[in-house]
Amino acid sequence: MAESAASDQQELHGTAGYESPYPYLDRLQEKMEERLAHRVPAAGRFCGFCYARLRADDTACPYCQAKTADRPTVDAIPQDVLRAYKAKASTEARWVHTGAFTGLILASAIFIWMVIWGPGILGNPALAFLELLIGGYFLAQFFGPLLFAQWGYSRGARKRDALWASYLAQRDGPR
Ligand SMILES: [Zn+2]
Repeated sequence: MAESAASDQQELHGTAGYESPYPYLDRLQEKMEERLAHRVPAAGRFCGFCYARLRADDTACPYCQAKTADRPTVDAIPQDVLRAYKAKASTEARWVHTGAFTGLILASAIFIWMVIWGPGILGNPALAFLELLIGGYFLAQFFGPLLFAQWGYSRGARKRDALWASYLAQRDGPR
């Protein structure tokens, strides 16, 4: 929405002008990706509202503040919930890969330009190869993890939040 006003609050509120209406989803994303990659056990004690993993003595969720007295804990994260986090992760990854690829294509185009039309020292094939290697690396980094990642974040987070919203509506009924 307010894409242009986003730069001064990027660090705090995600990137590319998208602020999740569910801040705890952003904070849980990394944990859920660990769970999706099976790096942590599937079973455990989870918040009955947001499905954050709780310690044995937690009586309130540190992510969504739900109290275990109001929302009994569950012993696994529902698949539909995991799918929402997966949608965010894979959308973002796709954008990062596309961005990195764009950077490489650009570096290749510059390489070809240098070899064929480069005037003077720019036409030196050794310099062109250097550009391809070093320029390729930096352009891939710039377009992938820096630039396209922001659009990927915003698209992916929107997708995840929409899935979470419909999950909540299904689980708790319309508000
Ligand atoms: Zn919670």
